[in-house]
This record gives sequence, C-alpha cells and structure tokens, in this order.
Amino acid sequence: MKCWICGSDADSREHLIKASDLKAVFGVITQKKPIYTHTKLQKNQPIGGSTSDKLKYGARICARCNSWREYPHASTAILEPSCTIAS
Ligand SMILES: [Zn+2]
Repeated sequence: MKCWICGSDADSREHLIKASDLKAVFGVITQKKPIYTHTKLQKNQPIGGSTSDKLKYGARICARCNSWREYPHASTAILEPSCTIAS
C-alpha cells in the first residue's frame, strides 16, 4: 500500500485516536486498568495502553509523513480551519 499523503511505500501506522486524547479522557491506561473497544465485529476488546496496535489503522502512511517533526499530522491538518467567518 502507498502512503496516502506522499505516495511512498506505507510503512507506518496512524493512531485511530491520538494517545494524548485518550490519556486526557481516561487517564493512564494499563493492562490492569484497560479501556474497551466495541464494534459490530468485536465486542468489548480490552486495550491495555494508549499506544496499543489495536488503536492503529493498518499501514496507510509512510514513517516520514507520520512523524510530527517532519510533517504536520493529518488529524491536526483536518482540525485546522480552512476558512474563517467574519462578522
Ligand atoms: Zn508519506
């Protein structure tokens, strides 16, 4: 699969939800204090950490584009307003 941003080979995985957002909502997630995902296919799947592979997409992006230092993160770009409304 190719990186959806630059077209290079996809060798990195993006988080479904930013680890810092999970920590802000649930605090520290551990094996002893997991959170759970629930989908149509899998119910109550325990997640033992905010960086779990269970919280990542399959490889659809290259490591360079997935790095905050090299490239703005896609989810940040989406959250940034593309226009402003003047009153
Ligand atoms: Zn890329």
